[in-house]
Amino acid sequence: MPGKVTLVGAGPGDPGLLTRKGLEALQNAEVVVYDRLVGPAILALMPEQAEQINVGKQASHHPIPQDQINRILLDKALEGKNVVRLKGGDPFLFGRGGEELELLVQHGVPFEEVPGITSAIAAPAYGGIPVTHRDCCSSLHIITGHQRAGKELDIDFEALVRTRGTLVFLMGVTALPNIRAGLLAAGMDPATPAAVVERGTTPAQRRISATLETLGQAAEQARVESPAVIVVGSVCALAEQFDWFDSLPLKGKNVVVTRPKERIGTLSARLRSLGAQVWEYPCIATVPLDPCPALDGAMERLSQYEWLVLTSPAGVDTLWRWLKDHGKDARALGSVRLAAIGPGTDRELGKYGLRADYVPEVYDAAHLGAGLPAGGNVLILRAEEGSPALTEELARRNIAYDDVATYRTVYENPRSQELREAVEGTDGLLVTFTSASTVKGFVSSVGADADFSRMAGMCIGAQTAAEAQKHGMTVKTAKAATMDALVELIVEGV
Ligand code: SAH
Repeated sequence: MPGKVTLVGAGPGDPGLLTRKGLEALQNAEVVVYDRLVGPAILALMPEQAEQINVGKQASHHPIPQDQINRILLDKALEGKNVVRLKGGDPFLFGRGGEELELLVQHGVPFEEVPGITSAIAAPAYGGIPVTHRDCCSSLHIITGHQRAGKELDIDFEALVRTRGTLVFLMGVTALPNIRAGLLAAGMDPATPAAVVERGTTPAQRRISATLETLGQAAEQARVESPAVIVVGSVCALAEQFDWFDSLPLKGKNVVVTRPKERIGTLSARLRSLGAQVWEYPCIATVPLDPCPALDGAMERLSQYEWLVLTSPAGVDTLWRWLKDHGKDARALGSVRLAAIGPGTDRELGKYGLRADYVPEVYDAAHLGAGLPAGGNVLILRAEEGSPALTEELARRNIAYDDVATYRTVYENPRSQELREAVEGTDGLLVTFTSASTVKGFVSSVGADADFSRMAGMCIGAQTAAEAQKHGMTVKTAKAATMDALVELIVEGV
C-alpha cells in the first residue's frame, strides 16, 4: 500500500497563518519535505520523530532539481509513508505544486492539497496595504517577475496597465528596474503609488513606500532583498492609514527568552504578538531528584505540617509527579495549607485543581518568608540551592521548617556560540530573565568572559536583577514578579 502525499501551504512566514488543516497534516507526518521559504517556527511544529528533508536552496547552496524532489515524494510515499510537502505561501501559486503531483498521479499515489495563505495578499496586508479597496481598483493581478538569465521579462505590460488593477509581482526583486521601466513605457502614471514589502508577516518585515517613478531608487537605497513582493497601484497609498503590523510596540526588537523549555511558550507568544523577533534559548532545565528520600519522608509526615510552601511551577510539577508515581492524587495532601510564591506558581497548582491559601503581596522569597501566616510547621519543597531569604525569614520568626530539595536546576544551551554572537553583535538586544538561575544559565552558555555591555537584562525581580548586575549588563526590573509586569517593562523600555 502506498502512503499519501499532502501538499501543504505553510503561509508567508507568521506561524499563525498556517491553516488548521495544514497543522493537522504536519502533526501526522512521518516525512516532511520542505524548502527555503518555510520558517523555523513552522518547522518546529512537526513531530520530532518525523524524517525531515530539506530540499531548499540555502542548505546546500545548490537547489535540489525539481525532478529529484518529485522522485523523493514518490519514493517515500511508495514506502508507505505519510508524506507532507511543505511550501511557502500557497503551493499552487508559483510554487510548482502541480508539477510535484504529476508523478504521483502517474503512479497512482493518493494525494491531497491544503491551500495556504499566499504572500501575494498577506505580505501587503501586513504592510498595511489591502490589495483591493472600494473605488481604487476592480481587479488584482499576481505576476511573476522571475527573469531567466539573459532573457527578457515575458510580461505584457500594456495589458497590465490597461486593467487599472492592483499589480503584485512575486520573485521580482532582481527584475525591479525592468518591471518599473516596462510599466512606465506602457504608459502608467509615474506618480502611481507603489511599495515593496520585504519578508512580509515576519518580525523582520520592512515596507518601502514610493511611487512607480521612485520605487527603484528607494528599493536600492534600502537594499531590498528577496523574498519581497512589489505592489503597484493606488491601494499602496492606504498603507499610511492602515499600517498596523510595523507599528506594533516591539516591532524590530530582538528579545531573547531564557525560560526552561516547558515554560517558554507563553512569554514568547506574547512578545511575538507585540511584534518582537523572539529568540528562544532555554538556558535552564529542571530535573526532579529521583529517588528523593527526603521527599518520601516529608510526604509520609505530611499531616504534621500546617503549611506546604512552593516557590516555582517546577516545584508544583515535581510534587505532582511524586504523587502520581506513588499512585496518589490531590487527596493525599490532606488538610495541609498551600502557599505559593506568586501567581505563576498558583496557576500551576490550578492545573491540578488546587489553589494556594497564601500568596505574598510581593512575589519573592523574602516576602514569602516574612508574610506566611504563623502557626504550625512548614514544609518547603523547592530546588536545590533555593534562595536563603525564605528560610532566614522563617528562622527570624521562630517558625519551624523543613527545606526539602525536590529538583535540581541544570544549565543547558546547545547553541551557545550562536547566542554569544547575538549578545556581542546585536545592538539593543533585550534578554529576559525570569529567575536568578536563568541569569546563571545564560552566562554559563554565553561564557562569563563575554562582553554583556551591549545587551539589556530585563529582570522579573530584585534577586534576578542582582545576579544580572554582576555581569556588567544594563539591568531593568519589573514592577512585580509576573509575566504581565515583565512584558510591560519590555514595552516601556523601548
Ligand atoms: N507560493 C508562494 C510564492 C512562491 S514564489 C506564495 O504563495 O506566497 C516566491 C516569491 O514569493 C518570493 O520571491 C517573494 O516574491 C514571495 N514571497 C514569499 N514569501 C514572502 C514574504 N514573507 N514576504 C514577501 N514576499 C514573499
